Amino acid sequence: MNFRYPVSRPALRGNERRYVLDCLDSGWVSSNGPYVERFEAALAAHCQTSYAVACSNGTTALHLALVALGAGPGDEVILPTLTFVATANAVIYCGAKPVFVDVDPLTWNIDPERVEAAVTPQTKGVIAVHLFGHPADMDALHAIADRHGLFVLEDAAEAIGALYRNRPVGQLAHAAAFSFYGNKIVTTGEGGAVTTQQAELAERMRRLRAHASHPSRRYWHDEVGYNYRMTNVQAAIGVGQLEHLDWHIAQRRRVAAAYVRSLQDCDAIVLPVERPWAKSACWMFSILLAHGGTRERDQLMHALAADGIETRPFFYPMHVLPPYRGLQPDADFPVANRVAASGLNLPTYADLTEPDVQWIAETVRRSSQGIVAKDQWRGMR
Ligand SMILES: *Cc1c(COP(=O)(O)O)cnc(C)c1O
Repeated sequence: MNFRYPVSRPALRGNERRYVLDCLDSGWVSSNGPYVERFEAALAAHCQTSYAVACSNGTTALHLALVALGAGPGDEVILPTLTFVATANAVIYCGAKPVFVDVDPLTWNIDPERVEAAVTPQTKGVIAVHLFGHPADMDALHAIADRHGLFVLEDAAEAIGALYRNRPVGQLAHAAAFSFYGNKIVTTGEGGAVTTQQAELAERMRRLRAHASHPSRRYWHDEVGYNYRMTNVQAAIGVGQLEHLDWHIAQRRRVAAAYVRSLQDCDAIVLPVERPWAKSACWMFSILLAHGGTRERDQLMHALAADGIETRPFFYPMHVLPPYRGLQPDADFPVANRVAASGLNLPTYADLTEPDVQWIAETVRRSSQGIVAKDQWRGMR
C-alpha cells in the first residue's frame, strides 16, 4: 500500500549524492577509501568521545561491542525486554544468556531497580537501550554496574543526538552501538558503529570486524573474527548525513513538539514523556492508547491506514518471542506488556510540515475516540 504519510522517510538532500558519485568515480566502493575514516571521525566528534568503529549494521555493532567487552558462554547480560530483537540476538551470538527486565512506566526504558534485582554471580554486563530516542537513566545503571563490576553498553541505535544530563549518548558507557538503517535518524542505507573512550576496545573491534587479521603478517589470524566492515559507499552517505546532524535532530524535535501541541488535551492518548534530565532525539513519535490493548490499538492502526497514515506497533517484548519465551518462567513484565500492547508509532520524519502533523493528529484524535466509545458501548451490552 502506498501511504500518503509513511511512518518514516530518509532525508538525503546534502552532499550524500556527491560523495557517493565520488566513490564510483574513484573506484573505492569496498571498505577501503577515505569516507570510512571521515565518518568515524565525525561520529566520534559528535559523541564527544575518542573512538568510533564503523561496521555493517547496528546488529553487528552490538555483537562486536559485546565480544570486545568480554561477554561469552556462561555469562549473563541484563537488558530490557522492550527492545528490538537485535539487542537480544547479539547476546546469543556471543554464547551468553540474555536476562530480561521490565521497563520504567514513564520512559519505557530499562528500570534500574529491576536490574539490581536481576544481578547474579554470572552477570557480566547491562545493555541500556535508549528506546525511541529517549536516553535511559544512565547514572542509576552505572551505580549498580560499579557495585557489581559489570560493563555497561548503550544500544543507541535509535538515539543519535539525544542528551543525558547534557552529555550526548555514545559517550555514556564503556561502549555504545549505533544503527544507520534506512529508517533511523541518520542513515547509511545499512550500517552501524561502536563508540568508546577506550583505545584497546576500539583496537579489538577494528580487528574483529576484519577477520581478526594480523596487522603486519598477511593472512595470519590469531582468533576467529568477522567480516563486519562498512563500505566506503555507505560511509559516503553517512558523512553527508552527519554534516547536517543538528538539522536532522531539530526536525524530529519540531515534529514531536507539533504532535504534543495537537494531542495534549486528547484523553484517549498517552503522550511520550521527556524527563527533565533528558533531551530525546525523537526517533519515533510514540503514543499509547489510554483505554485499550492490542485489539483496540490494531483497530486504530487500521483506521489510520484507511486515511493514508502508516503507523507501527511497538516491539513485542522479548519474553514473548519464540526464541526467548520460557527463559524466565517466573518473571513478570507488567509494564512492558501494557506498553507494548497499547503503543504505536506515528509518522516521524524531517519533511513533515506543521499542517501535515496537525492533520495526522486530528485524524488520530477522531479515530481513537471512536474506538473507545464503541468499546464502552459493547461493554454495556
Ligand atoms: C535498529 C535497531 C537495532 C539494529 O540495527 P540494524 O542496523 O537494523 O542491524 C538494534 N537495536 C535497536 C534498539 C534498534 O532499533
